[in-house]
Amino acid sequence: MNVKSLQKKLGRRYGSAVSVRVAEGCIVVSGHLKRWEDIVTACSMCVDKKSGMHVVNDILLEGEKPASVRLPSLQDHALEGSRPDVLIIGGGISGVSIARELSKWKLDILLVDKEADLAVQASGRNDGEVHPGVDLNKGSLKQHYVLLGNKMYDRVCEELSVPFERCGQYVGFTDWWMYPAVWAYAWQRKHICKVTDTRMMSRKELAKREPNLNPAFKFAMFNPSAGCVCPYGLTIAYGENAVENGARISLNTGVLEMEVKEGKICSVQTNRGTIYPRIVINAAGVFAEDIARMAGDRFYSIHPRRGTNSILDKKAGPLVMGIASIKTLKKNTSHTKGGGILHTVHDNLLVGPNAVETPEKENYATHRSSIDAVFAKQKMTAEALSERDIITYFTGVRAATYEEDFIVEKGRKTRNLIHCGGIQSPGLTTAPAVALDIEKMAVEELKKEGAVEPNPAFNPVRKAPPVLNRLSNEERNRLIRENPDYGEIVCRCEEISRGEILDALKSPICVPTIDGIKKRVRPGMGRCQGGFCMPLVTKIISEFLEIPEEQVRKAGEGTEILLRDTKEIRKTGEAAEI
Ligand SMILES: Cc1cc2nc3c(=O)[nH]c(=O)nc-3n(C[C@H](O)[C@H](O)[C@H](O)COP(=O)(O)OP(=O)(O)OC[C@H]3O[C@@H](n4cnc5c(N)ncnc54)[C@H](O)[C@@H]3O)c2cc1C
Repeated sequence: MNVKSLQKKLGRRYGSAVSVRVAEGCIVVSGHLKRWEDIVTACSMCVDKKSGMHVVNDILLEGEKPASVRLPSLQDHALEGSRPDVLIIGGGISGVSIARELSKWKLDILLVDKEADLAVQASGRNDGEVHPGVDLNKGSLKQHYVLLGNKMYDRVCEELSVPFERCGQYVGFTDWWMYPAVWAYAWQRKHICKVTDTRMMSRKELAKREPNLNPAFKFAMFNPSAGCVCPYGLTIAYGENAVENGARISLNTGVLEMEVKEGKICSVQTNRGTIYPRIVINAAGVFAEDIARMAGDRFYSIHPRRGTNSILDKKAGPLVMGIASIKTLKKNTSHTKGGGILHTVHDNLLVGPNAVETPEKENYATHRSSIDAVFAKQKMTAEALSERDIITYFTGVRAATYEEDFIVEKGRKTRNLIHCGGIQSPGLTTAPAVALDIEKMAVEELKKEGAVEPNPAFNPVRKAPPVLNRLSNEERNRLIRENPDYGEIVCRCEEISRGEILDALKSPICVPTIDGIKKRVRPGMGRCQGGFCMPLVTKIISEFLEIPEEQVRKAGEGTEILLRDTKEIRKTGEAAEI
């Protein structure tokens, strides 16, 4: 790469505020700028994929202190002195799928996450689309893994007892003149990029399959292999299966520092004690760069990118039965699929997401403008889409590198480290395939120090507790006769029984919080958003834990739901946390 000409290009745009150099096999961009968007643009200008070097961002955002990582305040010695063979940092879909694949081996596996549950960050805040990969170009790791990952979903979801539907993806076009170009694109995707299911669909067939889409659509590009899955459900199921096969998961456990000597991580400091792992897997999402820095192996940077989705009431569900979007000629400046409408496995509709660059890795606030922009676009996909059906919304943050590709490789300077970084969309789709490769890398590394034996007790099948609203009346009645708790309905919107909540509390990864139960069995996910069932769920948790109701938490530390002392709160002016 030509650093001089790159510097000139940057100089024309940013004067002397930004400089670029090649150092230790990376393209390092430094300086200071006033706007985060400019930092992202400057670093993106320096990308040189051919060189194999990654862009490292050292540009400071003027007047802003970088937001610090949200860490648990818990301090204990629960993990002090533990010596796992493998330490996995991150309890998102990447970390748990790796833990599950590694549990096929007789290894001591420890996964830590700073949050109070699995799937709290990107893995619990995404669309749950299992992408066909039609929008990705050949040659990237994302494209390589999306083809493999998509194909693995039927088996993985069957083994883990997670609902998965191949509902198909439609991209609609309103102009006939675009047909030849789209046909050529679809041919190229099918024959060159090997997204073999891609095909053109006539207006008539589209209208038959999805009658509520824009009547102005003249034709569509169709991928039947696209599917949908519950992203946090899958993450938890992977985690539970890993635990059932012997892995340990420690939540509320933040990695704070590492001691690295002669290119090797010797110890990892957490708020729950110092750990001495043989190898470390970095699956820390938007914080992968921070973990890489601690490990003395920072050769890439993450620029977080927010995305907002609205969740629509089930009554809007029949509007779209698959995944649909419109393709307009308006150029997308950000690296996004432009969002769409997705019929979830729970029969809601998801509308979104958009894509907004942000320096804040953990700011999940949702802005009205994001919802408005997404709806304005998606009403062109299905006119009858209405904001009145929104029951809630969420925002997630993608962990993009400047090369817009994944980092799935062994440490470049640190020997006992494996990176699973830059896992932005379609990281949920790719996770099963990425996990297999990381499993291989880890076992190869461990074998350098001695034999690694298969785990003869490994069982890939997770037996899920019953989901009553998916059973026939006969099956329900049988269950209720066996256990009357299944006959006591706690959440009317989602038809969740007391028995199912107790099952979740007795599951291999018990997270006895309102959100933990909501993620596992869905009370509070319906139209009333917990208005009716939250007090009942609180009561069940308090009885199960044998603690007063006011000590039950919504999520992590400091989120007790009931006001302990209203007088005290009035005095301090503190707001009740819900
Ligand atoms: C809005 C949105 C929509 C998306 N839609 C799709 C989609 O439809 N299909 C698809 O395939 N992909 C989608 N994605 C991408 C997908 O969600 C991600 O690629 C995937 O979830 C990344 O998983 P992960 O495990 O790598 O990261 P995460 O889920 O972010 O997990 C990383 C974990 O590391 C933990 N951690 C970080 N630092 C530390 C530390 N110091 N100590 C301990 N723990 C730490 C965090 O707490 C976190 O739980 C979407 C993403 C977003 C944001």
